[in-house]
Amino acid sequence: MPALDDSVQFVKGVGPKKAKLLEKLHIATLRDMLETYPRDYEDRSHPVRIADITEEGKYAVRAVVGVEPKVSRIRKGLTLVKCTVFDESGTLAVTYFNNPYAAAQLRVGQEYLFYGRVQGTGRARVLVSPQAEKMAGGEDSPGRIVPVYPLTAGLTQRDMARVAQAALAAVPGEWPDPLPMVLRARYRLPDAAEALGAIHAPRTLDDVTEARRRMVFEELFLLCCGLQQLKERRRGEDGIPFAPVDNGWAFWDALPFAPTGAQRRAIGEICADCASGRPMNRLVQGDVGAGKTVVAAALCALAARSGWQAAFMAPTEILAAQHAETLSALLGKLNLSVTLLTGSMTAAQRRAALAAIETGAAQVVVGTHALIQQSVTFHRLGAVIADEQHRFGVAQRAALAAKGHTPHTLVMSATPIPRTLALIMYGDLDVSVLDETPPGRRPVETYAVGKNMRKRITAFIDKQLEAGGQVYVVCPLVEEGETGLKSAEQHAKDLQAALPHRRVAVLHGRMKNADKERVMRAFAAWEYDVLVATTVIEVGVDVPNANLMVVEDADRFGLSQLHQLRGRVGRGARQSYCVFFGADKGETARARLKTLCRTNDGFEIARADLAQRGPGDFFGRRQHGLPALHVADLAADLALMQSAREEAEAILAADPGLAGYPELRARVQRMFAQRGDEAFN
Ligand code: ADP
Ligand code: MG
Repeated sequence: MPALDDSVQFVKGVGPKKAKLLEKLHIATLRDMLETYPRDYEDRSHPVRIADITEEGKYAVRAVVGVEPKVSRIRKGLTLVKCTVFDESGTLAVTYFNNPYAAAQLRVGQEYLFYGRVQGTGRARVLVSPQAEKMAGGEDSPGRIVPVYPLTAGLTQRDMARVAQAALAAVPGEWPDPLPMVLRARYRLPDAAEALGAIHAPRTLDDVTEARRRMVFEELFLLCCGLQQLKERRRGEDGIPFAPVDNGWAFWDALPFAPTGAQRRAIGEICADCASGRPMNRLVQGDVGAGKTVVAAALCALAARSGWQAAFMAPTEILAAQHAETLSALLGKLNLSVTLLTGSMTAAQRRAALAAIETGAAQVVVGTHALIQQSVTFHRLGAVIADEQHRFGVAQRAALAAKGHTPHTLVMSATPIPRTLALIMYGDLDVSVLDETPPGRRPVETYAVGKNMRKRITAFIDKQLEAGGQVYVVCPLVEEGETGLKSAEQHAKDLQAALPHRRVAVLHGRMKNADKERVMRAFAAWEYDVLVATTVIEVGVDVPNANLMVVEDADRFGLSQLHQLRGRVGRGARQSYCVFFGADKGETARARLKTLCRTNDGFEIARADLAQRGPGDFFGRRQHGLPALHVADLAADLALMQSAREEAEAILAADPGLAGYPELRARVQRMFAQRGDEAFN
């Protein structure tokens, strides 16, 4: 009898070679197989009559082979097998391309259950390369619901099915169920073993739906339990008490503008957290341009005021440099020193920065990932800030925090997500929302256009430059060998040729960091009129004089990413514009880009994006720093998510260590161990 933790190699028909391939799909053991869910199901349980096939699509058909399959060679290396099958209602042509074996299996006069795609309608209907299962003579075998697993080259659905069968057989009478029985009863969820059976060998599609609902609930519930425990654990720790501030705080006077109500509120919450005697763990969420940097600056000032250092981590060198400048200007008025630390500094600069950080002369330290390197030692680190949080993993944030002793932590994100989702994603954090844009901003006018507008857009660029603006042109990253797309360099050349009297610069990922920074600075200093760039400029950079952004092949970007990009313009007093090329690349592309023309509301765009792409892409795989969610579709499962969170809170309130739920406790630990977060190990 195989056991769940046995290697897949124990399965008959799976040798070392197949095991290697399975490993590519992260399937090493039978348990892994059970946790690999089918991506789809083929419903072969309801065969249709041939006469009833009036539209193209996938069908199961019970039919008899009428004539001997005929093999023809269309050209070198391409064979076509044709035959005709019939049932009591009519006949249907069947073809196989380059698969003489499949066709050779078919016997005239034998009945099969065919499953495949029908192309064409009426007399032109063809069933293309169907799977065929022999129907046992006379007996009425009904056909099945067949799971469709993700595959990799060299593996077939048959291999997957074989391993899944073996794995199901290994599920002992009862698969330990992490969900407390009361919850299963309350939400009418099947137990774990039953759900697994329904997922890998369903009798009906309704079984699958029920099983999926259960798995979603389980996953979200485990996630919420884990995050809740993290939060509780932190709550028990002692925090560094920062001295409280009042309305007379010099920071307010140092600001070059009046803070928005939302900024004032967020800063107030931060001050209260930091004076509470507990470590702060707060997320500041605000759309691009909402003014998050000022909030970060306030925390830096607050820390310094009580004699502690603050570290501010940004995802790119450009952004780190820009933040350092902004903070120097602002905090310099309070006589605070700001030090920059990035990977591209010279050895001498670096030595000086490290020394200042270690002695405490650097009160505020701004940098990239370089901040979490071993060689960086802080004198008295009291606050850490991670900008554009979605670019960092939880682990990186933790690594920075580990440079101090329970420092106050602030993470900032411009990815607007629905509130319920935020409560889950950031379940271990308190949240401040910047829901107010600084005054005087005019909404960016946005247009989705096709290639036929090329000349007019080039003229429009020239017009904006003539009026004293600056222009970003953003190009998608082009992989080698991809056709039909121009690289940033090529775009820059073409644009320079079209506008010979303008100063065009190019910025792309393969440039050295120092060169990137030089170009970016030069653009900010108006030494260039146009910056043609890949998405290295996506995050955070601030050039208020830029008032037009043109995005090439915009259909290649996610909506939220385009919205972030658009946030680079509309920062000054001038009317700003955004032009997306790609509206001529099909109806879907057009509709998506139109969403952006219609609204400037990051939340609405995020919702559309989430609905269109699914959460995996939306958050960037693994970048959100949460355990990988296998089944939960965070957009569609909001209601279930809400219940999962409430139940997790209730259960932990009664039993913080989950002592009464050993299986639940173990599973939560396993889930969080996989995300490489030391907090649970
Ligand atoms: P975010 O990081 O949220 O995208 P930033 O902090 O870069 O936004 O701020 C965007 C721009 O708005 C900056 O030029 C900043 O100086 C300006 N800004 C921020 N807060 C205010 C305010 N209260 N009033 C006017 N301008 C502001
Ligand atoms: Mg920012």
